[in-house]
Amino acid sequence: TLNLPCLLVVVGGTGGTSVRQASGCRGLSQLAELPETHQLLRQTCRDYADKELIPVAAKLDKEHAYPAKQIKELGSIGVMAIEVPEDLGGAGMDYLAYCLALEEISRGCASTGVIVSVNNSLYVGPVLKFGTEEQKKRWISPFTTGEKVGCFALSEPGNGSDAGAASTMAHQDGDHWVLNGTKAWITNSWDASAVIVFATTDKKLKHKGISAFLVPMPHSGLSLGKKEDKLGIRASSTANIILEDCRIPLDNMLGSRGAGFKIAMQTLDSGRLGIASQALGIAQASLDCAADYALKRTAFGAPIGKLQAIQFKLADMAVALESARLLTWKAALLRDSKKPFTKEAAMAKLSASEAATFCSHQAIQILGGMGYVTDMPAERHYRDARITEIYEGTSEIQRLVIAGQILKEYQL
Ligand SMILES: Cc1cc2nc3c(=O)[nH]c(=O)nc-3n(C[C@H](O)[C@H](O)[C@H](O)COP(=O)(O)OP(=O)(O)OC[C@H]3O[C@@H](n4cnc5c(N)ncnc54)[C@H](O)[C@@H]3O)c2cc1C
Repeated sequence: TLNLPCLLVVVGGTGGTSVRQASGCRGLSQLAELPETHQLLRQTCRDYADKELIPVAAKLDKEHAYPAKQIKELGSIGVMAIEVPEDLGGAGMDYLAYCLALEEISRGCASTGVIVSVNNSLYVGPVLKFGTEEQKKRWISPFTTGEKVGCFALSEPGNGSDAGAASTMAHQDGDHWVLNGTKAWITNSWDASAVIVFATTDKKLKHKGISAFLVPMPHSGLSLGKKEDKLGIRASSTANIILEDCRIPLDNMLGSRGAGFKIAMQTLDSGRLGIASQALGIAQASLDCAADYALKRTAFGAPIGKLQAIQFKLADMAVALESARLLTWKAALLRDSKKPFTKEAAMAKLSASEAATFCSHQAIQILGGMGYVTDMPAERHYRDARITEIYEGTSEIQRLVIAGQILKEYQL
């Protein structure tokens, strides 16, 4: 259940003015008529980010520390499984709610944002959509509370964008599947209790030979590579998952044999809205930081915010951010109304990730030397932003998806 009062206790009430409220850049949120439940969720996550994430984000980043306490607190209000029905332990809300929550969480800490995003959209999401009732009970319910998180293993050392070229093998041996191969770059891997592994049962069939498998972690035959030492999102773990004669019961196949690529692609359509929301949070944090600094820093006898050169940067940042947010909300609303949203999700991810890169770059420029050191959060936002243009489909792949959909529409 989405336990909002519980969170208010956790964060000590909703009183006080946040940095963001003070910055006055809430135009869209004021204009848009969000349902009351969504407004409450958004405000709750905003307060949580201000009080529980912003104060610790730099430390978590520096120490590469998994935010276990924060993930459990977010789990206690339903944020770890927003779309999962209440009878399975989730919040039973829609994807727009998920996007709103994830933006606020990522504004506070982008590492925490991606941990939440992977659990919701890449792990729990496909089990909810393609799992049997039994699989849902076993593989979703324990992952709704923040005690356990899941991960999603599609990429391999030899292929990322070209996911259909998977070389991890699955063969049947009696009443078990046996998995062999290496999956690369797996977010949450060091902290996860389960993984969805994509492996091929017949390489000749190319992407049509790929199936999805649910594997508990730890598990015999499954080991982890070193934790990657990353540019950003350093409080989330990323590592190879190595499978050597990893045996799992036949029942652990998710969806039907050969349906794995379709499951992966549909999952990524939704996942991209999670990453778009993470990017919006980073972009908003960059704008907050830059606008606040522009009001306080003086040069040549006046606040730098009076300089047109600085004002133009702030204006361009706000336009990039608000337009990406509208695209993200539009795609989420299409998904919630069961309409096609592949093109819009790719547009949202492309524009929000580029907005995050742009805004965090501009924020450093506005802060001058203070933008370049860890005393201020701008340099972390800059580092965190960069990954949003790479994972769950690079910006080049988003452009291919968008163009492919456009050409399809024109052929009709
Ligand atoms: C921190 C991090 C976390 C990640 N988490 C996960 C995870 O949890 N699960 C998971 O499965 N994967 C994960 N990934 C992998 C990620 O999704 C891939 O890195 C990404 O899809 C790109 O694949 P690649 O790195 O192999 O690059 P490549 O596919 O080798 O691409 C290299 C370059 O070529 C371009 N390119 C490739 N093909 C085309 C094309 N057809 N047209 C135009 N340009 C093209 C790309 O855009 C890119 O610029 C993660 C990666 C990182 C860095």
